[in-house]
Amino acid sequence: MDVLTIEQRRLNMSRIKGRDTKPELVLRRALHANGLRYRLHVKGLPGRPDLVFPQYKVATFVHGCFWHGHDCHLFKLPMTNRRFWKNKINGNRKRDEKQVAHLKSDGWRILTVWECVFKGPERLPVNKVKETCSRFIRSGNQKYLEISGVKTLRR
Ligand SMILES: [Zn+2]
Repeated sequence: MDVLTIEQRRLNMSRIKGRDTKPELVLRRALHANGLRYRLHVKGLPGRPDLVFPQYKVATFVHGCFWHGHDCHLFKLPMTNRRFWKNKINGNRKRDEKQVAHLKSDGWRILTVWECVFKGPERLPVNKVKETCSRFIRSGNQKYLEISGVKTLRR
C-alpha cells in the first residue's frame, strides 16, 4: 500500500463517511420545510442511507463528488499516490452500486443527490432541488432519481 502524506491523511480523516456534510444539511432543511419527515443514517439498511423516508420507501444518498468518483468538476484524482486514490474511489463506487442494487431488490426507491448540485457553475437553486426531490419522493412510482450539477438521471 502506498504511504500517505500527512496532508492526505488529514484530508482523509476529515472526510471519512462524510456525515452531516453541508450539502446534506441543506437538503435536510429544504425537505423538512416541505413537510417531509425522514430518519437519518439508518443502520439496518445497506449502505446506511443518509436520509430514509419510510412512509414513501425512499432511501436517499448525499454523495461527495470526490469520494464517490463523480464525473464532474469537483472530482480530480490527487497528483500523488494516484493508484491508492484510484483504487479507493473505485472501491467506493462499486460498493455504492452494490448497495443500490440490494436496496432496489428490497423494494426501496433510490434518490441520489450529488454535492455538485449545490456547488459550482452548473448548480441548481435550492428551491429547484427541493421541488425535484420532493416530487420524486411523493411520486410513489418512479424508482430512481439522480440529481447533480451535470445532469439529472431518471431510471
Ligand atoms: Zn459532482
